Amino acid sequence: MNVLIFGPNGSGKGTQGAVVQKKYDVTHIESGVIFRENIKGGTDLGKKAKEYIDRGDLVPDNITIPMILDRLKKDDCKKGWLLDGFPRNPDQATALDAALKGAGMKLDYVIEIVLDRNIAKNRIMGRKLCVNDNNHPNNIFIDAIKPAEKGGGTVCRVCGGALSARSDDQDEAAINKRHDIYYDKNSGTLAAVDYFKKLSRNNKGEPRIIELDGKPGVKEVGNQLMKELG
Ligand code: AMP
Repeated sequence: MNVLIFGPNGSGKGTQGAVVQKKYDVTHIESGVIFRENIKGGTDLGKKAKEYIDRGDLVPDNITIPMILDRLKKDDCKKGWLLDGFPRNPDQATALDAALKGAGMKLDYVIEIVLDRNIAKNRIMGRKLCVNDNNHPNNIFIDAIKPAEKGGGTVCRVCGGALSARSDDQDEAAINKRHDIYYDKNSGTLAAVDYFKKLSRNNKGEPRIIELDGKPGVKEVGNQLMKELG
């Protein structure tokens, strides 16, 4: 099963992605995580990407598109994949579509988590990262995934690991810029979503589009998603 997942930063996209990854045993590919790992590791790619990420800008397509298309060629993608954070604009969508067709790979589902921009923004400001596992969601503003209290501070609610905030999560200007890109229906991520919706309409419902209301809690959205995926 090959899946794309879309949702604004703060919509719970990463959390729902992790649920799909576990249930269907697909390889979870997150463009943002790949960039952050490269920055941490001090690689050339990381050095090139950092300034864009810190500003909340997209990393240029000539870096991002080959990075993701190469990733999809790795062996662990043969069992199926879930791509999160890519494509983020129509050029990336076109490049991905062409690469999949070229490789004879079928795109089965496109998941879109729909969420109001203000709600998404508040959620981001409360997000905490677990040092042990990227798939341990914690958020001080969301009851269902509030960090655990320990020694007057907070730790990961899943494993008790230390928590940190992403540097680009606390910067309001950067958040606004990321949302400007996401909610842009002409040249941003919603335009990429639209690309696949059109593709689906012109191709007898393939890929299948799953639109989810992102307002309810993590569990409810997850249950709805499971129902739709069947
Ligand atoms: P994310 O973790 O998905 O919020 O991504 C963090 C940052 O990585 C974004 O704000 C961008 O700077 C960069 N990034 C992630 N995915 C892409 C992409 N598909 N195209 C360009 N930049 C990206």
